[in-house]
Parts: sequence; structure tokens; C-alpha cells
Amino acid sequence: MEFIDLKAQYKSIENEIKSNINTVLEHGKYIMGPEVALLEQELSEYAGAKYCVTCANGTDALQMALMAWNIGFGDAVFVPSFTFMSTAEVVNLQGATPIFVDISLDTFNMCPDSLENAIKKVIAEGKLKPKAVIPVDLFGQCAEFDKIIPLARKYKLLILEDGAQGFGGTINGKKACTFGDISTTSFFPAKPLGCYGDGGAIFTDNENWYETLKSIRVHGKGTMKYDNVRVGLNSRLDTMQAAIVLAKLHAFIEHELDNRHKYADMYTSILKDRVKTPACPKGFTSSWAQYTLLFDSSEIRDKVRDRLKEKGIPSMVYYPTPLHRQTVYKPLGYEEGSLPASEKAAKGVLSLPMHPYLSKEAVSFVAENVIKAFEEQ
Ligand SMILES: *Cc1c(COP(=O)(O)O)cnc(C)c1O
Repeated sequence: MEFIDLKAQYKSIENEIKSNINTVLEHGKYIMGPEVALLEQELSEYAGAKYCVTCANGTDALQMALMAWNIGFGDAVFVPSFTFMSTAEVVNLQGATPIFVDISLDTFNMCPDSLENAIKKVIAEGKLKPKAVIPVDLFGQCAEFDKIIPLARKYKLLILEDGAQGFGGTINGKKACTFGDISTTSFFPAKPLGCYGDGGAIFTDNENWYETLKSIRVHGKGTMKYDNVRVGLNSRLDTMQAAIVLAKLHAFIEHELDNRHKYADMYTSILKDRVKTPACPKGFTSSWAQYTLLFDSSEIRDKVRDRLKEKGIPSMVYYPTPLHRQTVYKPLGYEEGSLPASEKAAKGVLSLPMHPYLSKEAVSFVAENVIKAFEEQ
């Protein structure tokens, strides 16, 4: 059994992938070829954003947004602690300071109350200027934007939605990657919409930022590549990867997202009264980048994980260390216990095999073994 079965996906869309790659080989426009513009158009239409700029990966996507906003030294950017390193790393790369915020244990996403407390604390200390917040759509579920957007407006913070795992999720029908002033996603192969290498995309409704982002993507170009009006990056999405995402986006829309919902619902119906299953707030739908359980301790979690492994069932721990407790962030001085929900999540989470090419049999096999492993404790 695979944790995420990319080979099964390839087999199911092999013809479109091969034909798309072939077209690129025939026209030979490997950098900024026609597939890049076509993908940007299809992505923005699907998500419901005015503009889309593809780029080299989901980390660059986040950094480019901060660059477009001129965020730098002396600025505070609020990020959840329970996320992948990229969310905070890009803040440091810009010379700004990440301020870690706790999560809600029900959704694993940024806790609005913890965010407001962190903002007030930064204002009271008076050393840093609060500039932006980066809510993450963790495990495929949109952050609590219904509460975070009004808070951000109240304190005049820009919102950068990190939708690396969130593409395809919704709140009351509105899609992920449209909740930020700028929103981003990643096409890393294991994400809900992946390519066959690295890739990313940025979404916005703001025309000025859209133009700035296109300039940053190619070394801060002005009217052309050799007219440089700002410092930028080399962060284009390869034409070949764009061709691959085009094929995958069609499968994602036609059947993959529905299958993710079907298998996640099945996990929940078998597991819900036995272990702590992921909660979807009313009006939210997840793209189920991960299906993640929460146990009471790392001892229980690790035992369940070992028993599953004995049965040939892969599982993963995303993430074993919250960012505020990472070695690199020791100098910021966050003590153990300072963000208790993030620390509890890191000790108790376990993600089960989740992808659109599972089967009902596979899901029941995994779920029944989870129950067995847990109840044998
Ligand atoms: C994967 C991921 C990223 C970074 O994406 P890359 O394409 O790997 O650079 C950023 N944020 C989150 C939450 C992620 O899961």
C-alpha cells in the first residue's frame, strides 16, 4: 500500500500526460511556453481569482508575495507554529521576524484568539511593526478566514494565504487561494494538485501586485529581461511542468477531488466514535491533502504507527516539531509550553494513507487496523 499513490494516478491519466509532454517537445519552448499562460488562465478560472502567476515552487510563491509588499527588517509577520518550515522561513529570508501563533486542535489551523493576542503583544512591545499574517490551509482545510479576515482588517495586516496544501478546499462555496490579499499554492508531487518536480502558483485580484509579481519572477524585469527595475528571483514554472499540471488539473476537477471526499468520509464514518478524527467546520470542505488523527500522547501514537507498519500500512507524522521549538528558532526564545496546542498536535498527530486512487477495501482495511491497534493499547 502506498501513502500517496502517484503511480496509480499516472496510469489513469497516462495518455493526456504523454500527449501534453510531446507537444512541448515538438514546439521546444521550454521556458515560458504557451502551456504556462494556459495553465495560469485555467487555474485562476478554477479558483475564482482574477490573476495567477505560476512560479518555481510554493516557497518562492510565498516569498515573492512578501517581496511584492516590501516586507523586510523591522516587520512582524504572524504565522502558525504547526506548519511546514516554508511558511516561516520566507519571513526570515526577507529580513522580517516571524511571530508564532498557536492553532485550534480541532482543525490544526491558526487560532484566531491566539492571533489577536500575538498582535496585541507585538504592538505593546513596540519593537516591530505588524505587517502581515500568513494563515495556512493545513492538511487541505481552509484556515478560519471568517474570523481571521476581520481581525487582519482591524489591525491593518495584509493576508497571505498559504494554500500549498489547500487547493480545492472551500468555505461556503468560495475556493481556497482566494482568501488572501495574495494567496499561494505548491505543485510539489505530494500536494493535492502536484506536478512531476517542483512548481507553485500565486493568486491575487490586485492588478498592481500581479504586475509586480511577474517582474519579480524574472529578475525584477521592467519592460524586458535586461531592464531591471527591482531585485527579483529566477522563479519560473517550467513549460514541461505546466503541461503536466494541465493534465492533472483536469483529473483533479473531473474525479480526484470527489474521490478524496468519498474516502475521507469513509474514514470518518468508520473511525469517528473510536479515535479523534479531523473536524470540518460548518460550511468548510477540505481537499484532504492529509487525513490526520490526533492521539493523546506520542506513546500511543507511536504504538499505533508501529502496529500499522506491521500490517504493511504506511502512515506519517506531519509535523513532529512545531516551528517555535525548532533549533533554528531557539534564539527567538519560545519556551516549551508557550504554544500548547501546537506542541500537543506535534506529539499526537498521525496521517493515514490518503489519495484519490484508494479503494473502499483499502480504506476499511486501514481504518479497522487503526481501531484494533488503538484498542489493544
Ligand atoms: C509544501 C508546503 C510549502 C512549500 O511548497 P514547496 O513547493 O515545497 O516549496 C509551503 N507551505 C506549506 C504549508 C506546505 O505544505
